Amino acid sequence: MKKYAILLVFVVLSNFSLTMVESKEKADSFRSFPVLEYHHIGRPEGRWHRTPENFRSDLEWLYNHGYYPFNLRDILTGFKGLPPGKKPVILTFDDSSTGQFRYLPEGKLDPECAVGILKAFHEKHPKEWPMRATFFVLIETNCPERNLFGQPEYVAQKLRQLEEWGMEIGCHTYSHDRLDKISSAAARRSLERSLKVLSKFVSQEIVSLSLPQGFYPKDLSVLKGFKLVVEVAGGMNPVKFNPLHIKRIQAIDSEWKRFFGR
Ligand SMILES: [Zn+2]
Repeated sequence: MKKYAILLVFVVLSNFSLTMVESKEKADSFRSFPVLEYHHIGRPEGRWHRTPENFRSDLEWLYNHGYYPFNLRDILTGFKGLPPGKKPVILTFDDSSTGQFRYLPEGKLDPECAVGILKAFHEKHPKEWPMRATFFVLIETNCPERNLFGQPEYVAQKLRQLEEWGMEIGCHTYSHDRLDKISSAAARRSLERSLKVLSKFVSQEIVSLSLPQGFYPKDLSVLKGFKLVVEVAGGMNPVKFNPLHIKRIQAIDSEWKRFFGR
């Protein structure tokens, strides 16, 4: 019986359409929406690195092309608050490396980290660019620089701060665990342990999951509890899409060119 209930949930969810939650008119104002994927913010530019300069120019480009930022979870409201004439974009950050959110030795926010750049951009465009992004964080890995943005003394402050600024925290498993390579029980444990730690710091419900390297667990019921699951590639999302298979675009030059003609 439980199996059928889970199956039913998946069938219902797999047919999600933005037209179901908001006016058809709004959904018609854009035919697809991008979910951008960032990893390291730092120099030099590379496959998994975007420099601070390039990240700033990404924001400028999006702003100049009529985009308006949302958290991933805002999909569930049909992008409520999208100003007329604007198009939604979602910025996501995987792996919680220090370049995404860094405090300098004197306790000042690093203007070269992703959050510093987002904050400065928001201050320049307070109404047109709210601070919105989804951070898929790791709790404990063998690379301390990626454990909740490194800087253990600032973990609580950073997570609280992201929440206060209106941004979303998503799960990226406890230790960057490939969910296809471990047992269902271990996969469940990895996700539960991650949520347990995050709940100590933030009050928002964690509804979004980024699968390490995009691999799904064999038993999909492991993902129960998450409303949105992102993949690592795939391109733009049509307005009718599967919330457990949200496509993303890696924010590197070749993908900007391919999907945005930039
Ligand atoms: Zn990752």
